Amino acid sequence: MPVMSTPELAERYLMQTGRRLPVTFVRGRGTVLFDESGREYLDLVAGIAVNLLGHAHPDVVAALTMQSQQLIHTSNLYFTQPQVELARRLVELSFPSRVFFCNSGAEANEAAIKLARKWGARNRANAFEIITTAGSFHGRTLATVTAGGQDKYSDPFKPLPDGFVHVPFNDARAVEEATTDSTVAVMLEPVMGEIGVIPAAPGYLESVRSWCDRKNLLLILDEVQTGLGRTGRWFAHQHAGITPDVMTLAKGLGGGVPIGACLANKRADVFEPGDHGSTFGGSPLACAVAATVLGVIERDGLVGHAAEMGELLATATLDLGAQDTRGAGLMRAFQFEEPKAKAFQQSCLEAGLIVNAVDDHSIRLVPPLILTATEIDRAHAIMKKVAG
Ligand SMILES: *Cc1c(COP(=O)(O)O)cnc(C)c1O
Repeated sequence: MPVMSTPELAERYLMQTGRRLPVTFVRGRGTVLFDESGREYLDLVAGIAVNLLGHAHPDVVAALTMQSQQLIHTSNLYFTQPQVELARRLVELSFPSRVFFCNSGAEANEAAIKLARKWGARNRANAFEIITTAGSFHGRTLATVTAGGQDKYSDPFKPLPDGFVHVPFNDARAVEEATTDSTVAVMLEPVMGEIGVIPAAPGYLESVRSWCDRKNLLLILDEVQTGLGRTGRWFAHQHAGITPDVMTLAKGLGGGVPIGACLANKRADVFEPGDHGSTFGGSPLACAVAATVLGVIERDGLVGHAAEMGELLATATLDLGAQDTRGAGLMRAFQFEEPKAKAFQQSCLEAGLIVNAVDDHSIRLVPPLILTATEIDRAHAIMKKVAG
């Protein structure tokens, strides 16, 4: 019997929930991945904005090794040092708050949604509705897929939970008009990621923040993709000089190890013992690695570096015949007039470069924060050749 290839095995044994590119990676180092035949690829996707320090970063490997020899998991019935230490660091980097740990972006947003509903029950006469934006992405659980503003992801799973209202992004008036006595919170991505890197327009976050203050609503910012240096600041809301009441993190936090976090300020932090939980959330292993990721970002000045490299990457995408190039820091996208993004992605892959086609027209780049100017030159040369 012939040996089945990895893609053949995947078709036989894995649920077909998404389309995969025809490549099987076996190892990585820094900004580079290697496939089964040992071929090398420069990685500008980083596991979808996850591998902030690239692949097999020595500090991450050391933290994983050390912590796995001490303690991998205990549950949240007990205290562990790595968990409180990580919470302390996140709060010090962001805003006065407390942290709930989970394992993914969707779970972090579920926590934020539950928190908002409990807060509404107490503080706004049982208000429960959350205003979110069309095109947004907040995860794939039933509540978060409903919160997200893309019908194609939620429609097949009706009936959907109540309590989500969608308004156009970058339209503060629309938020005002959608606000009723039932509204409890506004939930936004500071830069919409999944839909193709759409940044908040100047003044938008500020306007929504002051509306939330005026109407006594919570502002929840989903920084699952934008957080932790990605946009050239520690958190994307810092560009606007505002602070949310609730912020969610995940993707980059564990440098590839699954971990999510929901931070809430004193006003919003209404969870009491028994309200919420997670078996795996905030394990000593994930938290020790995440604390190391934060430490390396600080030590190596990677937030400023991401801002600088982002400028270079933006310039490098300007002459690819793309219409629109947009983003902040190392979260970038450009758009072709013709529907050729998927073909562009495939040709780049064949030429040893990993990029992400978010739809038929747009390419997203969310590389590791350790990306260098030389690597940007290399990526540019490949993209230029492929774009023709
Ligand atoms: C990826 C993403 C999520 C979902 O995260 P998962 O870890 O896949 O559940 C939520 N919000 C934003 C903004 C994201 O980019």
